[in-house]
Amino acid sequence: MEPLYEGKAKRLWATEDPNILRMEFKNDATAFNGEKKAQFESKGRLNNTISTLIYGMLEKEGVPTHFVRTVDETNVEVKKVDILMVEVIIRNIAAGSFCKRTGMEEGHPFSQPIVEFSYKSDELGDPLINDDYIREMKLATPEDLAHLRKAGLKVNELLSDFFAKCGLKLVDFKLEFGRLLEDPSVIVLADEISPDGCRLWDLKTGEKMDKDRFRRDLGNVMEAYEEVLGRVRENLS
Ligand code: C5P
Repeated sequence: MEPLYEGKAKRLWATEDPNILRMEFKNDATAFNGEKKAQFESKGRLNNTISTLIYGMLEKEGVPTHFVRTVDETNVEVKKVDILMVEVIIRNIAAGSFCKRTGMEEGHPFSQPIVEFSYKSDELGDPLINDDYIREMKLATPEDLAHLRKAGLKVNELLSDFFAKCGLKLVDFKLEFGRLLEDPSVIVLADEISPDGCRLWDLKTGEKMDKDRFRRDLGNVMEAYEEVLGRVRENLS
């Protein structure tokens, strides 16, 4: 059997139900738009588990997601969605491409969260776009975009508070949204929330606990993800 879709970190498989897909988390790690590649034995399990726990917390707080049920350590079933080609990035502290673009030093805390949009295109390297680009490219309506901004900021509040309880600072993160196949008027959170798509710094030591360990060759990548999972687990029960 062939997957319906294979991305850099996940595969999507059909199920018997046309409205439900199986999402498999791979052990592959990539950075810099796929230029840097590696395999980590427990990455699929760690990201799947972290993402599922976080989605459970968000659902409880009234954020609709694509999650249906856990299948096993590296697989979940999700509602089939039409992914919006706009990625929503929220930043609380200067890091990554923000610093590159602006010259601002890493670690500068923002007075308010920054909401950023990028065009989901591997070919183009997910370029930064704004509301006017999105309108003209017909990636989302102004109403949808307002919804994405509001939902992104709500998720930021919930995640920032939750990770603070875990002793982690939520520096920035990326969200993806999709329209339910069953009812395209409903937009839900899709993809994953894990240290692959969030920058998390230890509150006490400032240590990076996310994919920057891989991007920057800091070592102990999976040890950091395992530590994040342990703290997430502890603070949910
Ligand atoms: O690289 P940049 O600083 O723009 O990334 C901002 C945040 O979004 C980081 O937490 C990064 O992990 C995440 N991101 C992502 N996938 C992308 C681009 C960014 O998960 N394609």
